[in-house]
Amino acid sequence: MEQTLALIKPDAVERNIIGKILAMIENDNFKIRHMKLTQMSEQLAKTFYAIHEGKSFYDKLIKYMTSGSIIALVLEKENAVASYRKLIGATDPAKADDNTIRKLYALDKSFNSVHGSDSVENAKIEISIMFGD
Ligand code: UDP
Ligand code: MG
Repeated sequence: MEQTLALIKPDAVERNIIGKILAMIENDNFKIRHMKLTQMSEQLAKTFYAIHEGKSFYDKLIKYMTSGSIIALVLEKENAVASYRKLIGATDPAKADDNTIRKLYALDKSFNSVHGSDSVENAKIEISIMFGD
C-alpha cells in the first residue's frame, strides 16, 4: 500500500485546527501509520526543503516551518501521494478547489497549513527525514 508524508504546519497547530485537519484525512479513508508532534530545527527544515534553496520564498519558508510545533504523519492509502495532494489542494488557497484542506484553512500561499509529498520517490525521502528508516 502506498504511503505519503503529511505535515500539519505551525500556523494550523497554533490555531487549534489539528483535529479538523485529521478528521478530513480520516474521512478520506487514509490510515494514519505514524504520527508525532514535533518542532523542526533549522537544519531539519533546510534538509526537508533543500529543493527550494535559492528561491525567493526560501528564507521565509525556513523561518515559518521552524516557528512552532508541527504534526508529522505517515498516511497510507491506494495512490496515497496523489490522493493526499488532491485533498490538500493547490499551494495558494485562492487557487485551491472547494472542500480542500487549504481552501478551508490556509491563510495564504505561504502559511498554507499543510504539506504533502509530491511524488512516491519524495514521499520515501521525506518519511525517512521525519521518521528515520
Ligand atoms: N511557498 C511560499 N511562496 C511561494 C511558494 C511556496 O511561501 O510562492 C511555501 C509554501 O509554504 C509551500 C512551500 O513553500 O507550501 C513549498 O512550496 P511548494 O511549491 O513545494 O508547494 P507545495 O508542494 O507545498 O504545494
Ligand atoms: Mg512541494
